Amino acid sequence: MQARYHDGRTAQSRPTKVCVEDETLVFSADGENRWPLDAVRVETVDDRVRIAYGRDDPARLTLALADWRELTEHAIGHHRRVRQREIRLVAALAASAAAIAGLVFVGIPAASGPLARHTPPSLERKIGRNLEAQVSLPFRTCRGAAGQAALKRLGQRLGQAANTPFDIRVRAVHAPMVNAFALPGGAILVTDELIDLAATPDELAAVIAHESAHVQKRHVMQGVWRSFGFGVLLDAVVGGGSGAGQQAVLLMGSATNLHYSRAAEAEADSAGQDLLTAQGLSSQGMAPFFQRLVATSEGKNAQAVKALISDHPDTLRRAQASRARAKSGAAAFTPAEWTAIQASCRDGYDPLKRMRKLF
Ligand SMILES: [Zn+2]
Repeated sequence: MQARYHDGRTAQSRPTKVCVEDETLVFSADGENRWPLDAVRVETVDDRVRIAYGRDDPARLTLALADWRELTEHAIGHHRRVRQREIRLVAALAASAAAIAGLVFVGIPAASGPLARHTPPSLERKIGRNLEAQVSLPFRTCRGAAGQAALKRLGQRLGQAANTPFDIRVRAVHAPMVNAFALPGGAILVTDELIDLAATPDELAAVIAHESAHVQKRHVMQGVWRSFGFGVLLDAVVGGGSGAGQQAVLLMGSATNLHYSRAAEAEADSAGQDLLTAQGLSSQGMAPFFQRLVATSEGKNAQAVKALISDHPDTLRRAQASRARAKSGAAAFTPAEWTAIQASCRDGYDPLKRMRKLF
């Protein structure tokens, strides 16, 4: 694709050919240049786009908007093909692993609670690490350091109150959905869209406390046992290299959507509020957040929150119950922290999302 290269130091520009390989812009100008698509900044000016890379590099590429669209659509197509190939592979793995699980551990759904409580923390951590590595691809960590630090501090405080062997590690990630989820071993991922939806620090803190309570009560591990059973153990024991277990857990959407029971959700609501109270924080944000979810699911953002609502039935009833239990307390984040958290995902987004936004 034909583009023009400006080195940014002189007024001159010169023609160069640009293509996309492995989600990276490749062109030659003073040697070969490789600019990863997820790190470039793109600005549209009339029918052209101007692309920059790196904080201090004044160099720019400009090309016709139509050409850029064609280049990046190719990248999206490539992404999609890779994704489809992964899904097919994972489906095959899941089918075989599920067959093993069915034969060997028929009793797992019923036994998942006791199994989870008896899972050694070291094994849960190991399973969690495997899963975390796996989800770091589709859920990229947001770059805003100050916001991430504030989230991390809240996680540590809730972890202290929870008296759990796991470090609660909260971070914001890019994802095209409103969600927050806990992984085995204490990692809690909160999506950028959920952060956008939360109207106050209390609301976001309530969501994080709810997920922390899932970790505390070992619901996460219970969900893993129930959803996947033997495969995840096999995977951890065999060394995590094969990935069969974690792939299958992901395939079934289980890492983001562990289908906790109604009882587990209610327990996480109240235990989460208790964690906030134990740290002197307000637990009044939970009810309004539930109500916002319901209101938004009836509005125009319906698609994004529908999934979350379906995972969390009886949302209004839960709002009522948590309002009845709510206690006042300090705000979970200072105004400066809250601003940093809200900005934490605005810098450098996931390339596919960026492309969708651009066009
Ligand atoms: Zn939950």
